[in-house]
Amino acid sequence: MGNLSPNITMTDQGHAISKAIGEVFPDSCHKLCFWHISRNAHSHIGNLNENVDFHALFHKCFEKEFRDGVLLIWREIAQNGTSYTFEVMMNENSSRVRTVHFNTTTMEIRCTCKKFNFCGYLCSHAIRILSV
Ligand SMILES: [Zn+2]
Repeated sequence: MGNLSPNITMTDQGHAISKAIGEVFPDSCHKLCFWHISRNAHSHIGNLNENVDFHALFHKCFEKEFRDGVLLIWREIAQNGTSYTFEVMMNENSSRVRTVHFNTTTMEIRCTCKKFNFCGYLCSHAIRILSV
């Protein structure tokens, strides 16, 4: 590329490509592709995809949390069978770290911010993990 790195690189969130971009283009801003993230989220809600009312509400709530979640970074910190635990934060130096537990068999997802318990919709942290 003429010894120039791209200002922005967009990918589908693959961990390997994210790591490679950081190593090869350290000055490039890595962004996530909206289409891939949205598609991955829908693959995790199963039969609810066919419910029109749920679909409309999902998109309404999802949009803001999704936009906030796109900026978050995550790392897997534990796995036990189909149960995964992630840390989610704004950046590597962030002091505010949320922990998200996700079971891919039961599709149960919990976040330590407890936004779902208070507001009734998924937080940006959980949405971020669903889009992994
Ligand atoms: Zn949360």
